[in-house]
Amino acid sequence: MSRRPLLNRRLDGHGTTIFAEMSALALTTGAINLGQGFPDTDGPEEIREAAVRALREGKGNQYPPGPGVPELRTAVAEHQRRFYGLTFDPDTEVLVTAGATEGIAASMLALLEPGDEVIAFEPFYDSYAASIALAGGVRVPLTLRAPDFRPDLDALRDAITPRTRLLLLNSPHNPTGMVPTREELTAIAHLAVEHDLLVVTDEVYEHLAFDGEHVPLVSLPGMRERTVSLSSAGKTFSYTGWKIGWVTGSAALVAAVRTAKQYLTFVSGGPLQYAVAEALRLPDAFFTGFREDLRAKRDLLTAGLTAAGFEVYRPQGTYFVTTDVAPLGAKDGIAFCRALPARAGVVAVPNAVFYDDREAGRTQVRFAFCKRPDVLTEAAGRLRAAFAG
Ligand code: PMP
Ligand code: GLN
Repeated sequence: MSRRPLLNRRLDGHGTTIFAEMSALALTTGAINLGQGFPDTDGPEEIREAAVRALREGKGNQYPPGPGVPELRTAVAEHQRRFYGLTFDPDTEVLVTAGATEGIAASMLALLEPGDEVIAFEPFYDSYAASIALAGGVRVPLTLRAPDFRPDLDALRDAITPRTRLLLLNSPHNPTGMVPTREELTAIAHLAVEHDLLVVTDEVYEHLAFDGEHVPLVSLPGMRERTVSLSSAGKTFSYTGWKIGWVTGSAALVAAVRTAKQYLTFVSGGPLQYAVAEALRLPDAFFTGFREDLRAKRDLLTAGLTAAGFEVYRPQGTYFVTTDVAPLGAKDGIAFCRALPARAGVVAVPNAVFYDDREAGRTQVRFAFCKRPDVLTEAAGRLRAAFAG
């Protein structure tokens, strides 16, 4: 047997994800899991029933079409028009993926040559670094800094080189909860046009902007032909296990991403695609209610964390809140999170793992608030007893 490491160099350092590690810790300790971002209540009953109906009626039980079932592609196009006034051709400008995760991976594999630089704001969602690495790209992180995590546009300008191919953005931003303003996005768009860059925008939390509005980057001047937008049913409809996502963009960009995607999964989730098509057509009240529900949960958990002595960076969007544990005397968020289940009966995630510049996030810890109010209240009570008792 060769002594060469089994895992290739591209994936070196991308071992078990923090979500898997912390969710496993929650299971073995019985602690309340505010780590991995998944809701503890399923999404709308009628959408689950739509999935059951599709399964029973044999819709999607055999390979659906590669780009996704036409019903879902049409529903995605309608959703983009309803919420943002954007027009996409369901046949050529929409692609269904196995969650946004596959959309990210397929975009990187399709659009990068080895050595191409990808600029992304850190802390970033962990699959970004891995997907860039798989494609042989070089990630160029720009650090968002507490307390407000605004994108540094001068730093962005300085980071662009002749090798920069692509900007990978996440808006609203996980884990900081930052929602870029229209002005910030306009400045980013100007730079993209000026330097002829592609942009991939991950908008999985598009319906969770509490303060400020969610502006799709593709809606800004000059961006239509250079932007790949990603979203997913997991977050908006609270079915994270279904892994139905979608890509929208120009026909040329979608064709490129589809080329990579067809060799990753080819297709996935046939019957679920029909149900998500119905979900996207839910009335406006569903989307508003979802946001208001999560806003109340944000307020509940942030108040609890503040009372327990954490420094809380109030999120403008997403269902995560980033805190700093330095006021509790902690020096390292990773050690803090490993000890937290035993100390307080709660699981959280250390933000340091989302940074290349680990120092910048050393004492940051993220909590998810997509949980029932009684669970959030119980978790806050435990944290208060452990740290402020
Ligand atoms: N992007 C971000 C920013 C996320 O937080 C997540 C997590 N769930 C994903 C992408 C992945 O989405 P999906 O589950 O649809 O693959
Ligand atoms: N996106 C979710 C989070 O940020 C989890 C996704 C995952 O487990 N890979 O917590």
